[in-house]
Amino acid sequence: MKVAEFNVKKRFSEASGSCAVVDDNIKMELNKYGVYEETVLVNEDYELDSIVEYVSPNLNEEINESEIAEKLYDNIKEINYDKRIGYYISLYAGYVNEGDYREKASSGGMGTWIFKELFEKKLIDGVIHVKENPEKNSPIMFQYDISRSIDEIRAGAKTKYYPVEFSRVLKIVKEVPGRYAIVGIPSFIMAIRLLAEKDEVIKNRIKYTVGLICGHQKSSKFAEAIAWQVGIKPGNLKYINFRKKLLDKPANNYGVEITGLIDGNEVTTVKSTKELLGQNWGQGYFKTKASDFTDDVMNETADITLGDAWLQEYTKDSRGNNVIVVRNPVIDDLIKEGIESGKLNLDIVDKEIIFRSQAAHYRHTHDELAYRLYKRDKANEWKPKKRVEASNSVPLLRRKVQDLREEISTQSHLVYKKAVELDDLDYFKTEMGKLSRRYNQLYKLILIQKKGITGVINAIIRKVSKKISR
Ligand SMILES: Cc1cc2nc3c(=O)[nH]c(=O)nc-3n(C[C@H](O)[C@H](O)[C@H](O)COP(=O)(O)OP(=O)(O)OC[C@H]3O[C@@H](n4cnc5c(N)ncnc54)[C@H](O)[C@@H]3O)c2cc1C
Repeated sequence: MKVAEFNVKKRFSEASGSCAVVDDNIKMELNKYGVYEETVLVNEDYELDSIVEYVSPNLNEEINESEIAEKLYDNIKEINYDKRIGYYISLYAGYVNEGDYREKASSGGMGTWIFKELFEKKLIDGVIHVKENPEKNSPIMFQYDISRSIDEIRAGAKTKYYPVEFSRVLKIVKEVPGRYAIVGIPSFIMAIRLLAEKDEVIKNRIKYTVGLICGHQKSSKFAEAIAWQVGIKPGNLKYINFRKKLLDKPANNYGVEITGLIDGNEVTTVKSTKELLGQNWGQGYFKTKASDFTDDVMNETADITLGDAWLQEYTKDSRGNNVIVVRNPVIDDLIKEGIESGKLNLDIVDKEIIFRSQAAHYRHTHDELAYRLYKRDKANEWKPKKRVEASNSVPLLRRKVQDLREEISTQSHLVYKKAVELDDLDYFKTEMGKLSRRYNQLYKLILIQKKGITGVINAIIRKVSKKISR
């Protein structure tokens, strides 16, 4: 592929860094909107390495997630298959009982625990995951890194809603022999699988993949905008914990812990996400374009998939719970041993429970992708090849939701940049507040359509009488 063509298509790239692993003319850089982008160091006529296209999930038109997953898991004796979840041996919901893994994690702590188990049982020599950047003067706060001890593994716990890429660490993996496990969002794990198809060293050294469910990727400005809302101006943010568990609240009502400089003094603040603009994930503030062009909700090519158990029966415990989809027999054995020894407190759950925990995500990412693809066709634009077909047959109000989500995410990048230039956070709040209000009104309309006027009035009466009787 010529650079000129790559430069058009890369707007849809997940920007994992896989292209930079296979072609030294490509470098990963954060752009002016705080989103990773493949910067090409040669001119537009240059022919890039022939596998650049193959290793990027949205540029690859040869093989999809279902086909990769079939190669990996279809021959496992105890395997099951569900079209929404992909292959699975076991399905669970719950948390880690052992030590303080759960306390130190974002959800139930399985992400860090499974790495610890693989390492302790000498099944791997290193863990590739996302940690704080040790270079404190760098504007990049978090990055993929390699941990080679239990302490290092534990230090990488917690969800970072922050852009990352793995080209730097994968180059180390190629140089330093060993057995590694890696964690990533769906498009990143797919990128690893595609790289492994073309590169024997990566195939042999990446032994296990831990997949996260991912609503969408955020730009680095998401963190910056949160900090600014508590008085820490852009450039003064030192640390952010995106998932601070609030022990008096349900798990899905979490907080953000932010440390930074205000008037030259270092301060730490905890704020509930409910009090901050841009925290409604449906609205998609600071979302990357690629996130709207994946159809893989359940990280189908990962050996184990982990997410939040966003279900009332689990969210009532503020300490957090995971939903877990296991596809690899070795990992399945570790989990079964963990349950038997009491290190894990997991319920065996039905596939409907797993699906229900991600129902809204599935509707946006999978079902309504059809309409987003249709819009690209209508605009005569190139679009990635997906397992979902382009279609306009999404219901009218849902199409309006999709239109507004696209507008909100596009505008959030532009309006925020202008707010920084103006040194005026209120500009961001006012302009984006207008769009968020339109979004909320649209949802009220959907509610009326769903329940009818009488249904809505009854729901309000129920809510008010509940409040009065408290
Ligand atoms: C951008 C993003 C969006 C998400 N959206 C959803 C969602 O919509 N629904 C849902 O159910 N779950 C979502 N998750 C997953 C969820 O937040 C938890 O990460 C997951 O439940 C595992 O929690 P844990 O307590 O088991 O892991 P922990 O023990 O806290 O370990 C988390 C592991 O993930 C690694 N990690 C952190 N940030 C990243 C990153 N950006 N990329 C790759 N690895 C990372 C850490 O280094 C650590 O190894 C999302 C995660 C991310 C990163």
